[in-house]
Amino acid sequence: MGADEGKSKKTARRIPFPATLLEFHRWFSEERACVDYLYQSRWPEGFVCPRCGSRGEAYRIEAYRRIECAECKHQTSVTAGTVMHGTRMPLRVWFNGAYLVTTHTPGFSALQFQRQLGIKTYETAFQMLHKLRAAMVRPGRDRIHGDVDVDETFIGAKKARKTGAWGSRQGNGCRSGGDFGSR
Ligand SMILES: [Zn+2]
Repeated sequence: MGADEGKSKKTARRIPFPATLLEFHRWFSEERACVDYLYQSRWPEGFVCPRCGSRGEAYRIEAYRRIECAECKHQTSVTAGTVMHGTRMPLRVWFNGAYLVTTHTPGFSALQFQRQLGIKTYETAFQMLHKLRAAMVRPGRDRIHGDVDVDETFIGAKKARKTGAWGSRQGNGCRSGGDFGSR
């Protein structure tokens, strides 16, 4: 995954994000819907190969999560450039986690997160929550690039993390020590 993987991020916010919990569950009831959402967010006007720039033709492989350019055979993933990159956790769990993080106060604990999502180990839940928190900007709150909102920060996670995102008021959005439960 190179830096060029994220060129289409600017367009990500054109893709709407569910406004309510009911809508959220309707949209993302299946794994495939999450994959397609990421795909749509990254390439709203159809696939563009991040390596050779060719458009349109691409193969969807590995349960549609990977995309292979028909022209140069370069492979990329719908999760490239996001906090979900390289994950083995179902995207549905990540999506639900992202929803929880954006709709709860910063005091939401890793234990609550683990329980609500049915994640097996506390450690995994803690890591996921940490990543999501580091990546996300609370809508209408910490406006970093002027018009950042939930879906864009979710998709373009790395960009948001650099600028602080959660906890950016104190300028420590990406602590490694991990004291999220106390905020
Ligand atoms: Zn290509």
